[in-house]
Amino acid sequence: MLKHAILYPFFLVAGCIALLIGIFGGSFVWFFVVLLLAVGMTAWGAFDIRLGYFTDTFFRKKYNAQGVIALSFDDGPSPYTAEVLQLLNAYQFKATFFCIGRQVLAYPDMAKQIIDEGHTIGNHTYSHRRNFGFLKEKEVVAELEQCNAIIQQTVGKKPKFFRPPFGITNPSVAKAVQYTKHQIIGWSNRSLDAVTLEENKIYQRVFRKLKSGDIILFHDTSQRTVNVLKRLLPHLQKQGYISVSVDDLLNLQRYED
Ligand SMILES: [Zn+2]
Repeated sequence: MLKHAILYPFFLVAGCIALLIGIFGGSFVWFFVVLLLAVGMTAWGAFDIRLGYFTDTFFRKKYNAQGVIALSFDDGPSPYTAEVLQLLNAYQFKATFFCIGRQVLAYPDMAKQIIDEGHTIGNHTYSHRRNFGFLKEKEVVAELEQCNAIIQQTVGKKPKFFRPPFGITNPSVAKAVQYTKHQIIGWSNRSLDAVTLEENKIYQRVFRKLKSGDIILFHDTSQRTVNVLKRLLPHLQKQGYISVSVDDLLNLQRYED
């Protein structure tokens, strides 16, 4: 696996050599090639949570997961969470909800219902800031701790799972989770339900790529997603799939003791 800790020194040394070649050889082509590779790799690592480029991430179960998947829902709770829970119950599926602290404050009863019905809650920061990728370590820690405190006050559980907003990881996020001891959970199947307007396209995207062991990313924030689930869940059941929470899929501890 490609890792920032290994590649960063490599890029640094290669960059210095290429710079010297430029100074003494007269051509800076190699310097710009190394620079481009370093910037490209960093951007790819920041936006693709599956790479685990800056810190370890879980995003699917690779082996021994026949017929098992993990549905996950970000950015709630919201008024749509009730119907999502109703659908999950109807099929006896379990899911993981990565909740925003501010949303838990706005819809505390929904958060309690998620727990009461046997699903798992994870941390998705206090305010889901648009500039999350540019926050300093201290600010990421504050977002994580504030969200955990609200969830603990509301449902009596302190999540160990964290899904970064927009799936962004970088050195600040890596250091922050090392400090707060959160486990980063990504996804292997992205519905793009927050940006795709056509329900059929969302459904097809999820189903086309579906594999046992997948962690599937949805958002419990729109009627669109509820409608997709109404079609997807019976189909999953017919195909012999069950959905479990991420902790059950990966055999991880979901809350602090
Ligand atoms: Zn989000």
